[in-house]
Amino acid sequence: MTEIEKKDETTSKDFIRRIIEEDVAIGKNKGKVITRFPPEPNGFLHIGHAKSICLNFGIANEYNSVCHLRFDDTDPTKEDVIYEKAIQEDVHWLGFDWQGKLFHASDYFEKMYEYAVQLIQNGKAYVCSLNEEEIRRYRGTVTTPGAVSPFATRSVEENLDLFRRMRNKEFPDGAHVLRARIDMASPNMKMRDPLLYRIRHAHHYKAGDRWCIYPMYDYAHPISDAIEGITHSICTLEFENNRELYDWVLDNIKANFPSRPHQYEFARLDLQHTVMSKRKLLQLVENKYVDGWDDPRLPTIAGLRRRGCTPEAIRKFCEMVGIAKSNSSVEMGQFEFCVRDDLNTKAPRVMAVLKPLKVVIDNYPEEETEWLDASYWPHDIPKTGSRKIPFTRELYIEKDDFLENPPKDFYRLGPGKEVRLRYGYCITCTHVEKDPKTQEVTVVHCTYDPATKSGNAPIGRKVKGTIHWVSSQAIPGEVRLLSSLLNDTVSSDDFLSQVNLHSREIVQALLEPSLRDAKAGDRYQFERLGYFFVDPQFFQEGKLVFNRIVSLKDSWKKKE
Ligand code: ATP
Ligand code: MG
Repeated sequence: MTEIEKKDETTSKDFIRRIIEEDVAIGKNKGKVITRFPPEPNGFLHIGHAKSICLNFGIANEYNSVCHLRFDDTDPTKEDVIYEKAIQEDVHWLGFDWQGKLFHASDYFEKMYEYAVQLIQNGKAYVCSLNEEEIRRYRGTVTTPGAVSPFATRSVEENLDLFRRMRNKEFPDGAHVLRARIDMASPNMKMRDPLLYRIRHAHHYKAGDRWCIYPMYDYAHPISDAIEGITHSICTLEFENNRELYDWVLDNIKANFPSRPHQYEFARLDLQHTVMSKRKLLQLVENKYVDGWDDPRLPTIAGLRRRGCTPEAIRKFCEMVGIAKSNSSVEMGQFEFCVRDDLNTKAPRVMAVLKPLKVVIDNYPEEETEWLDASYWPHDIPKTGSRKIPFTRELYIEKDDFLENPPKDFYRLGPGKEVRLRYGYCITCTHVEKDPKTQEVTVVHCTYDPATKSGNAPIGRKVKGTIHWVSSQAIPGEVRLLSSLLNDTVSSDDFLSQVNLHSREIVQALLEPSLRDAKAGDRYQFERLGYFFVDPQFFQEGKLVFNRIVSLKDSWKKKE
């Protein structure tokens, strides 16, 4: 742990905010703080991006400043305006705004070209005609220095001419590249005459067919930052070695930039039991392992939104994970904790039965319906409101809540056992009906004790378990139970073989009648089962579908 990280443990500020605080204190950049979030529009954003968004936009908010949204659109072969739209929607949904400061790296292509010409004129860049394989070979290894390209000796005039003709579409892909002339023996591999431009005859979704040469990230990024007057350019740790090149570009271009930005790196978020790279997410989408980028099983922002997570929960999670200088992976449980914690005070409690088993209360009048008052909120949540739930002779409980031969510590229903129906009566199982073929229990017969209504204690005996239920007036609804998309955490490219093919279970549930009023985007806690979300897309199509956002870790804390 470095000194600065140690210090951070005793203050509430992370190391990046401390650096910024110091910069502001000494009047660096005239005391201004401008950040940017620079996604490549080649996929949907995921929860890792949320961490970067919370950091960059969060800092801008704290300094009454602005965070630019800049599309890093330097690779036309993979980028699309569809992604650009989705990214904007996601940033807004997370609760942030770029205040009109929306830019594209491609806005600066002409400037970047000019600066490249300047570098050539100053002997700092040259056109190299080695092919990709040769460039790699000449670069050397971490332990051996690279070799200077045979094309490094081209004259300034020849370089200017070739670079101009590269732009003028005279050469095919791969024929030439523009490279910085730095040091082929540098211990930092990134500094061994890095590529600045390559030829790509591809249609750019924004710039059209104007260009066939495209700048590399390491060249485009510092220039974009400087043109926009970014002061603190925050990225993830894998770019640590790129920082030297970031500085080289800005130190070797003569221009009147409004700021001299600096790059800072923090640890990227890595969440267990899922994949976080857009490349992998794209494979899952394209190979139809999921239903699209907004499939609620994906860790994309669109997926989490469709699942029913709130932006508050995601922001809270990012805050809890914090900003560190070393990579680590975070348990899914931590994320789920934040989701539960947020929904606890937001989601009213109702009852639904996912896998119904019929119960008949033989001593309850056939035609009777009692409307029981049931609070939407537990006692520890300072909210009021209740609904009426019908109690009828025939009702449904969860299959799992009945065992024909229960072990001693099973505090639910079984032959001769008594259990409380939430908000209703205590019932005792007298006998069962079975399917003659499969021997499966089809109906559970019970008697009820009228003296135990709505939580009244039964006299002279203990009833340990309380279960949820719905009456014969329940309404049907589809419920989707979602689990981990991967069997295990895998970092290898073989992750497709680890995809959990049972990550979505669709059940036809029975819902208490108050859920007739459920609207798209509503969130509920189904007692003992978890938090659920009315899928807006299905709702629009006229279907009531609930996604399970997250299960409850310990429901009612009864020994079960
Ligand atoms: P991926 O590897 O998922 O494709 P990326 O880094 O290529 O991600 P970009 O669109 O280039 O995706 O990312 C935009 C910003 O989001 C960058 O500043 C990047 O550092 C940040 N970012 C991406 N993934 C994470 C992550 N897992 N944790 C934190 N920040 C991230
Ligand atoms: Mg990237």
